[in-house]
Amino acid sequence: MEKIKLWIPEIKFHLGLNILIAVFITIASYVHFPFGSLKGNLVYLAHFLLLQFSLFGFIYIFSLLNKVFKIVFPILFILATSFSFWVYTQDLTIGVGMIQAISETNSDIAIDVLSYQFVLFVLLSSFSLLLFFRLHKKSRVSSIKSPLFFLAIFGVLTFFVVENYKYDAFKNRLPYSLYFASVKYANKPKIKLKEVKEQVFTKEENLHIVLVVGESVRADHLSLNGYNRNTNPLLSKQKNLISFKKVYTPFTFTSQSLPQILTDKSIDSKQSHQEATSLYSVLNKASFKTEWIGNQSIERSYKDIIYSNTSKIIIDKFHSFQSFKKQKDLVLLDHFSIEDSKLENRISTLHMIGSHWYYNSRITSDFQYFKPIISSKYIGSLTKDELINSYDNTILYLDNFLNILIEKLKQSSKNTILIYLSDHGETLGEDGKWLHAQRHKAARNPAMLVWFSNNFKEKYPLKINQLKFKKQDSITTDFLFHSILDLGKIENYKFENKKSIFD
Ligand SMILES: [Zn+2]
Repeated sequence: MEKIKLWIPEIKFHLGLNILIAVFITIASYVHFPFGSLKGNLVYLAHFLLLQFSLFGFIYIFSLLNKVFKIVFPILFILATSFSFWVYTQDLTIGVGMIQAISETNSDIAIDVLSYQFVLFVLLSSFSLLLFFRLHKKSRVSSIKSPLFFLAIFGVLTFFVVENYKYDAFKNRLPYSLYFASVKYANKPKIKLKEVKEQVFTKEENLHIVLVVGESVRADHLSLNGYNRNTNPLLSKQKNLISFKKVYTPFTFTSQSLPQILTDKSIDSKQSHQEATSLYSVLNKASFKTEWIGNQSIERSYKDIIYSNTSKIIIDKFHSFQSFKKQKDLVLLDHFSIEDSKLENRISTLHMIGSHWYYNSRITSDFQYFKPIISSKYIGSLTKDELINSYDNTILYLDNFLNILIEKLKQSSKNTILIYLSDHGETLGEDGKWLHAQRHKAARNPAMLVWFSNNFKEKYPLKINQLKFKKQDSITTDFLFHSILDLGKIENYKFENKKSIFD
């Protein structure tokens, strides 16, 4: 009994400290969750408690370095609270994009920082910590002989056990996200882009290629491909539209599939650290105007590919797919125009957030057509019907998105062609698995569509015949790089004609 009394001040100190951290930092990552079912809410609570417990472990061990701890901890605490403010108020994502913006002193985040609410929040948190440290000035210092030390080791182990069970379960949440996003930012991208040395040119003119890169859309959920629900009420009325329903990719993550789709890297290539050529680097050399308009925050694996475009706009770059306040894809079209000078060739890439989980966040309420829908982020508390209904609602949204885009492209005088390709599919309950990070075969058949303008049709009847002829073929996502160079009549650069869908 006497012994336990000895440790009480220490227990009080660490309990209090963890409550402060929870209030000012950790809880920020949870407040925007949809609180639907009791079961789901209990899972969120367990997640939070485990995260906080693991954090206690790291902090306790850090506090063994008594003097260093007293100086460094408040600095880290204030740093983390200045980020948690954005997560609390706007559900911003502490990811690579954010770290990049800060390290490259991006002016648009400076505007956010300067609000009085932000200053007030940081002052309040700093003052609370200062007061807390003063009150516990005489607290017993941490020691490896303390029972809390053993508890702390369990806490640290919790971090690794949970991360091993579910990758990024903690790494994406504050305050861990700050550290891991910085590490990710500092690491070099896996793919190294080659410079195009050839004197590339084109015989083409007045061509506009619109490439829409989709997200997590599987081919068999389009009614265009025979799905038993009408998920394409608008596109099914469009003429000049061809759907390829047998496109395959082995990559089921955006970070792996995009570098493959947008470069000459083949799906058969085994090396992950290889040199590859960006599609846009070749087209730039042939004097194409290249532009990227993205509604997904930049990831390190394809950052350089985006930057190989002559113009790039990343919309809503501080909200990743995890944010519940992420902008909907229709915003992409506000940044896209068909106005252009005659004769110039152009490729515009629109990168959608598409059908990425959490499905409800992708659509506006007028697209909640199939019901009942999901109400929680915890899949275990949802039914198969709710999940598939919500997923199909995102396909309805896509149908509307592409239809508006096509109507816009019809106004253009250029020879216009639109290629829509999702980066991969999605697992929807096959073998009890959900979402796309499962490497399941259900996630390997992305949706792919081609639409062409009447001008294009008149000018290239043979290409249209080829498309119609090949639409039943089983192809891989390798087709994209070679098809676009073929389409652009690229000369003096070697590519594989036989992989082109127009050849
Ligand atoms: Zn993806």
